[in-house]
Amino acid sequence: MGAIRLEKVKKTFGTLDVIPGVDLDINDGEFVVFVGPSGCGKSTLLRLIAGLEDVTDGKILINGTDVANEAPAKRGLSMVFQSYALYPHMTVYNNIAFGLKMAGESKDVIDEKVQSAAKILNLTDYLERRPGALSGGQRQRVAIGRAIVRNPAAFLFDEPLSNLDAALRVNMRLEITGLHQELKTTMIYVTHDQVEAMTMADKIVVLQAGRVEQVGKPMDLYSNPANKFVAGFIGSPKMNFLGGDIAAKHDCHEIGVRPEHLAVSTESGEIAATVKIAEHLGAETYLHVEADGLGPMTVRATGEVDLGENDRIFLTPEQDRIHRFDQHGLTLSGA
Ligand code: ADP
Ligand code: MG
Repeated sequence: MGAIRLEKVKKTFGTLDVIPGVDLDINDGEFVVFVGPSGCGKSTLLRLIAGLEDVTDGKILINGTDVANEAPAKRGLSMVFQSYALYPHMTVYNNIAFGLKMAGESKDVIDEKVQSAAKILNLTDYLERRPGALSGGQRQRVAIGRAIVRNPAAFLFDEPLSNLDAALRVNMRLEITGLHQELKTTMIYVTHDQVEAMTMADKIVVLQAGRVEQVGKPMDLYSNPANKFVAGFIGSPKMNFLGGDIAAKHDCHEIGVRPEHLAVSTESGEIAATVKIAEHLGAETYLHVEADGLGPMTVRATGEVDLGENDRIFLTPEQDRIHRFDQHGLTLSGA
C-alpha cells in the first residue's frame, strides 16, 4: 500500500524559499508525474518525500502516518536515480541483491526476489554480467530491479531516462509504464519533459517555482489548463498566445490556440500570415509563420502540405478550442 499525502510541505535552503508550501494527495497505486522547468523544485520535493532532505515545515503522510521526521530507510520507499548508481565491480545479480544482503535476508529469499525482478525486467540472461558490459537501458533496468526487490510502498524516479538517447527513452518509457501496470505500486516520477508526463501519468502535477500550478489527468491539463503557464507548458509544439484585436474580439486579455487547432487555407481565413519556415516531419508539417499584426505563430499541418518560405496563408482557429486568459494569466471560462 502506498498512499502519500503532503500537507503544507515547505523547504528553504538558507534564505532561498524553494518550496513555499505544497499540499498534494497521491492515491495508492497511482502513477504521478511531477513536471516543470529545470530548477522549479521537482527533485527537492521528491527528496523531501524520500527523506533525503529534511522538511522545513509541514507533514508527509505515508498511509496515514507522518514520516517527516523518519529516516529514509524507515519510509519504505525506493528511489531510482538518473545516474543509476550501480556498483561497477559487482555482477548484475549482486547489484540487485545488495540491499537485501545488507538487510540480512536469507540466500533463498534473496534468490527468489532477484530472479523474479530479473524476469519482470528481462535481465535473466544478464545476471552474471557487470554493469560495464550493459547498455544504458539495461543499466537503468538493474537500478529499477534493485528498487523492486525491496517491495516498496512507492517507487520514486528522478529523471531516470535523461541519460538515454531519444529512441531508448521511448522504449524505457513504455517499459516503466508496463512495469506499473504489472506491479500496480504507487510511482512518483519526476521529469522536465512534458511528453513523458503526458504519456506515463495517471495524474500530472505541474510545478513552477516550487508551487503547484495544476493537478490533473494528462488530457484534462491539455484540454482545460488552469492558466497560461500550464497551457504553454503542456503540449508540443507550444500553444500560440495572441493579444490585440483578436483577444478583444473574444473579450479577454489574451487568447491561446494550439498549433493543431488552426485550419490552414491559401484562400481565406481569420488570420493572414506568411510562412517563414516549414518543417516537414513526414507524418506532419510544422509551419512557423509570421501572422500579420500578431507576430510569430506555429501551425501543425498535415504531412503532405505543399507550403514553404514566403507563401501567404490564412489561419482560422477552431472556435471551441480557443483558450481565454485574464490579465493575470488565469483561464476564463467559455470561448
Ligand atoms: P529541479 O529538480 O526541478 O530542476 P531542484 O529541486 O533541484 O529543481 O532545485 C530547486 C531549487 O533549489 C534550485 O534553485 C536549486 O538551485 C535549489 N537547491 C536545490 N538543492 C539545494 C541545496 N542543497 N542548497 C541550496 N539550494 C538548493
Ligand atoms: Mg531535478
